Amino acid sequence: MSRREELAANLAEVEERIAKACEAAGRDRSEVMLLAVTKTWPASDVELLYELGLRNFAENRDQEAGAKVSQLRHLDGARWHMVGRLQRNKSKSVVEWADQVDSVDSVRLAEALAKAAHAKGTKLDVLLQVSIDGDTSRGGCAIPDVGELAGAITRSGDLILRGAMTVAPLTMKPSQAFEALASVVTGLRDDHPTATEVSAGMSGDLEDAISHGSTCVRVGTALLGSRRLTLP
Ligand SMILES: *Cc1c(COP(=O)(O)O)cnc(C)c1O
Repeated sequence: MSRREELAANLAEVEERIAKACEAAGRDRSEVMLLAVTKTWPASDVELLYELGLRNFAENRDQEAGAKVSQLRHLDGARWHMVGRLQRNKSKSVVEWADQVDSVDSVRLAEALAKAAHAKGTKLDVLLQVSIDGDTSRGGCAIPDVGELAGAITRSGDLILRGAMTVAPLTMKPSQAFEALASVVTGLRDDHPTATEVSAGMSGDLEDAISHGSTCVRVGTALLGSRRLTLP
């Protein structure tokens, strides 16, 4: 089987899972975006997924992504998300390739990204990453700090708050985490009307996330296969 056939078969399977989950939840398929997480996979795989119709891609390391995206400038309409932990000193570099940063979890990072977006003369779409169990060592902002961070993002004028993202913690049932994230976003919408996105669910738990209101599932393994362990 060629890589193209393999990716086509994987995509068909993922699409069917998403469609079934939407149907079960009484939601329209168009309410859920499929974000392909292409970290560790070559630019040629992104080209194949693009030919198969995908337009939204995500990476988790600035350096790898910058190199990959620069080879893929010819993919008209492709949109790139940063979903990994981000150090402030990478802000300038990340705005060169990312259309959206989904992992904003501190006021200081928001300020650095705002400054970088301002210098580039663009508005940057961002999601606020939430740590549902409050263990912020794995990234994310604890729920009690969400309001302050959302305020800092919006006040900057250079960032547009599009919603929130979480990775379900290992310490609780995913459904509980997804429910909590959805209610965080509902709370955000009062003060920040652009904050409508709920990014939740990965290869292993996308059905659960869709049933709890996810508007974006981030899928790596189920589309591309198991990642080999790579050194940074
Ligand atoms: C790698 C990654 C994913 C995709 O995970 P899979 O289990 O491979 O689908 C989703 N979200 C984030 C933040 C990731 O780093």
